[in-house]
This record gives sequence, structure tokens and C-alpha cells, in this order.
Amino acid sequence: MKTQLVLTRTHVQEIIKHVDIHAPLESCGLLAGKNDRVEKVLFVQNQAQSPVRFVMEPYEQLRAFEWIESNGLDLLGIFHSHPAGPETASPTDIAEAAYAVVHVICSGKDGNWKLRGFWIGNGEAVETALEIVE
Ligand SMILES: [Zn+2]
Repeated sequence: MKTQLVLTRTHVQEIIKHVDIHAPLESCGLLAGKNDRVEKVLFVQNQAQSPVRFVMEPYEQLRAFEWIESNGLDLLGIFHSHPAGPETASPTDIAEAAYAVVHVICSGKDGNWKLRGFWIGNGEAVETALEIVE
């Protein structure tokens, strides 16, 4: 379980730009890095094309995993958007979490996006502090 995840301001801007372009549909991607520090944001298409759920397109997800491995990084997190809220992980997010990583929820509307992190495991979501650095 991770108690914090470190992202740069540029990573946050990349995520917000991506989710804003795709709103009102949910969008998603992977966060790769080492230890608690994110080094790369990878975007994966939301196959569900839905405003209330996401399913990562399997081939793009596989390619992203291969990129992470070939660059010597680890999968630290998965992000997805909640264009109409809530700020927290939904019961579906908790039920469908396939990886024990930090799940970053990017919620908001009208261009006001907010990021919160949750460690999801054993049917529970525990908030993970997101530290934003330059
Ligand atoms: Zn969700």
C-alpha cells in the first residue's frame, strides 16, 4: 500500500488536458515510475466510450505495459476521470480494480478538475496523498 504518490505539475497538466478533451466521456491511462515517483503518464483509450465507466482498450493497455517494462519502470497508478463526479472512487471502481496500485480520480466539470488518489485493495479505497512537485 502506498501512502503517497509524487507527480510533477507537468504530469498533472497532461492528465487534465487529456480528460478535458474527452469529457463528458470518462478517459483513462497509466502512471509509471519508480518507488513513489511518477515519471511517465501513458494514455489508453476508454473502450467503453461512456460518461460513467471506463474499460481500457486491451491492445493499447498491453502496449503501455510493454513500454513501462522496457523502460525499466513500474506501474504505480491508474488514472481515470469522473467528468460529473464524484471526487472519490466509486463502488464500481472498487469492485473492478484489477491492480493493487494507486487509483487517481480526476473529477470535475466546467474545466475545474481536481485530482485525488486512492489505494484500492480488499474491497476498500484508502486515500493516498498526491504530492505535486515542480
Ligand atoms: Zn471511476
